[in-house]
Amino acid sequence: MEDTNRKRIVILGAGFGGLSTAKRLVKELGMPDGHEIVVVDKCSHHLYRPWLYEVATGDAPEETLKVGIATPFEDIRTHLAPKRIRVEYQEVVGIDWGARAVELADDRKLPFDHLVVALGASPSFFGIEGLERHGLPMYSLRDALTVHRKLEDLLGAKRRNEIPFVRVVVGGAGPTGVEFACELAEFMRKQVRKKRIGAAEYSIEMVEASPRPLGMLDKEMSGWARKRLEKLGLKLLLDTCIKGAHKDHVVLAPRPLKEGETEDMLVCDFKKEREKEVTTDLLVWCGGFQANPVVAKLGLPVDARGRIEVDEHLRVRGKDGVWAVGDCATIVDPSSKRPVPQLAQAAIHQAATAARNIAATLMGKPPVPYAFPAMHTVVPMGGAWGIAQVFGLRLKGRIVWPIRLAADVRYFLKTLPLGSAWKLIRAPLTTFRRNNL
Ligand SMILES: Cc1cc2nc3c(=O)[nH]c(=O)nc-3n(C[C@H](O)[C@H](O)[C@H](O)COP(=O)(O)OP(=O)(O)OC[C@H]3O[C@@H](n4cnc5c(N)ncnc54)[C@H](O)[C@@H]3O)c2cc1C
Repeated sequence: MEDTNRKRIVILGAGFGGLSTAKRLVKELGMPDGHEIVVVDKCSHHLYRPWLYEVATGDAPEETLKVGIATPFEDIRTHLAPKRIRVEYQEVVGIDWGARAVELADDRKLPFDHLVVALGASPSFFGIEGLERHGLPMYSLRDALTVHRKLEDLLGAKRRNEIPFVRVVVGGAGPTGVEFACELAEFMRKQVRKKRIGAAEYSIEMVEASPRPLGMLDKEMSGWARKRLEKLGLKLLLDTCIKGAHKDHVVLAPRPLKEGETEDMLVCDFKKEREKEVTTDLLVWCGGFQANPVVAKLGLPVDARGRIEVDEHLRVRGKDGVWAVGDCATIVDPSSKRPVPQLAQAAIHQAATAARNIAATLMGKPPVPYAFPAMHTVVPMGGAWGIAQVFGLRLKGRIVWPIRLAADVRYFLKTLPLGSAWKLIRAPLTTFRRNNL
């Protein structure tokens, strides 16, 4: 006889939000229990994005991956099996709301009682001409490997004198762009030391639409970032937008003026010319993210940027038993009136609330509202140097590296058995040293 109390909770996505929800649910429900948890992801590995740069700009990406950098575990199924969580490696393509079932790419339907959507984001190209075709994003493992291969190809071509100069343009000077550009600068310095390229034979330019890098930080901290970028030899093109991307060049323009602004206020150094062409051998796009496009096919309420609208309990508006966490959801902080930033730390935090509320609902208890945590900012800026805003402190320099490492260690200790976490903590120390020294 079917146990009608037994409910199936389906979690879409095994990234930071989905994986944390699954694990937290086991804790909340006290498994083994009558309920069933199923996680669906199109990939079999869990991607640890904060270390993705090490793959793109490290010396040996294959080795880097082997020790678990960027992919702390290769097989999510094996990882979750001891918790009795079922994992389906399938692409989610839609939801049949009549049957309350998730539609999978292999034509199967997976019925659910509760559904957690944690499908993450994707790079946004903002409709800029040619950008999706000619710009390489830094989002997935494949992206990082493609950037690495392209860099190696360019260094090879330079060495064979097939090209006179290597010119890299990085679009966006937010945390992703800044961290990538700094790691790239370190990588290129290392290539100079290895005599693979001359110090005057390459350039890295950063294009940023706002007047300062890391614009989400205060002016002083942003000033620290600027100095560091300049020290690393990066050229900053501020108040500047990419208007179009082509095979061998980008077209730049001063950013559009806001109400009340005049052209003199822009720090763009070619504002009088209106447009400028910059030749480029490699364009890496770190300029923004949008909701995962599959979200638009799920029949859920979304905001103007395609992110799922949830209430204060992280329940999708108007959908009973459906929850959303992480980058695919839009959660507005009532005190700042701004959406919670798209960060792993936010996704993990939301996962805890969603899991708690699902468990509460199953036990007939009221859900709790999502409490907005203080977000910490740590931006590594090449080697062991970085800037951070943590617990009200503003820091710069090498002191930031152990703070960043502590955040990584905390995640691994929470996510992995002690032995595997320790291996993962030790291995990167060697890899980072090799990549950064
Ligand atoms: C380069 C880079 C560096 C970053 N560094 C940091 C950092 O240092 N600190 C920090 O806090 N944040 C960082 N972030 C942001 C952080 O990675 C995201 O905020 C976080 O991954 C969001 O978690 P999520 O669970 O919402 O989505 P994700 O972690 O992206 O997980 C989404 C999951 O859904 C799966 N999926 C997608 N579509 C489908 C489908 N159709 N069917 C089945 N499965 C699907 C994906 O395979 C993935 O496993 C960084 C982001 C980038 C791009």
